[in-house]
Amino acid sequence: MKALVFYKAGEFKLEKLEVPKPKEGEVLVKIKAGGVCATDLKILKGEKGIKSGTILGHEFSGYIAEVRGNVNLKIGDRVSVYPIIACGNCYFCIIGKRNRCLERKTLGIDVNGGFAQYTLIPKEVVSLGHILKLPNKVSYEEGALLEPLATVVNSMDALNLSHGESILIVGAGPMGLMHLILAKVRGASKIVVSDLLEDRLKLAKELGADFVINPREKDLVKEIKDLTGIGIDKAVVTVGSAEAVEQAINCVRSQGILNLFAGGGKEYTLNLDLNKIHYKEITLTGTQNATFDQYKRSLELVSSGRIKLKSLITHEFPLEEYYKAFDLKSELKALKVILKPND
Ligand SMILES: [Zn+2]
Ligand SMILES: [Zn+2]
Repeated sequence: MKALVFYKAGEFKLEKLEVPKPKEGEVLVKIKAGGVCATDLKILKGEKGIKSGTILGHEFSGYIAEVRGNVNLKIGDRVSVYPIIACGNCYFCIIGKRNRCLERKTLGIDVNGGFAQYTLIPKEVVSLGHILKLPNKVSYEEGALLEPLATVVNSMDALNLSHGESILIVGAGPMGLMHLILAKVRGASKIVVSDLLEDRLKLAKELGADFVINPREKDLVKEIKDLTGIGIDKAVVTVGSAEAVEQAINCVRSQGILNLFAGGGKEYTLNLDLNKIHYKEITLTGTQNATFDQYKRSLELVSSGRIKLKSLITHEFPLEEYYKAFDLKSELKALKVILKPND
């Protein structure tokens, strides 16, 4: 089978490997769609170290090609995989936060993932029930986007965004736009999106942003003050920029919440006036990945038709053309890019 293997910073190889054979309790998934994520780019650039020889791809869907042992899945089942291996026994697993498991491993990062024609799903993932069957009306492409969508559900939960509240979304990349789509579903009253790229702001407007702001052209903090009077209720920064975070803190009203959705490099250190947090009683939160519950809620949002993700998929490529996907992503010329290893 074809597989995209990471070796070292700047080096992926498309390789021909044996199709893995499932052992007792494992299943083999034939991959139909794999989403390329900013994390994959970080790995390629060497900003996130992973083991050499790992098949990337943590956002994927496909169908069951083989099962071994007493498993509640059958050949042909269409599935999306919550890509987390959790111990089930640590503090975080017991409180239902398997994404924070102390022994956590993620498919496509720590163990082989979905940028291949087939991937073996470890028995821990199978026995935890982390393989979700996709209803027929949910496409494989949407199935591959459940993972990123779940991370946005996590972010929205941290923000506790309620009906009628205003929100500032910093960054109109695929994850910022997913925040926008979800903010609409949650009934936000005023959705403001900021980005430096005009074409992304245009798309944000088309997707229902009430206001779009390019902080290079306008003073974001002043604009938010003008729009809201007291500052924005909730804000999320979806780009790895300390400057953007500092700006967002100044946009949030007293007792508002700011969530940091993106990590950054070495320069991602805040110069923070603590008085702003203290006197304005601002809550600062961070979110990364998602709980299994949030993953299930993502499937529910998509299968009920309340969330449509198609407009975020700008490109699809066969696995062989993975480099096009990575080039477009790093040049910010694509939103979600889907790799199709079996087409
Ligand atoms: Zn991702
Ligand atoms: Zn655990």
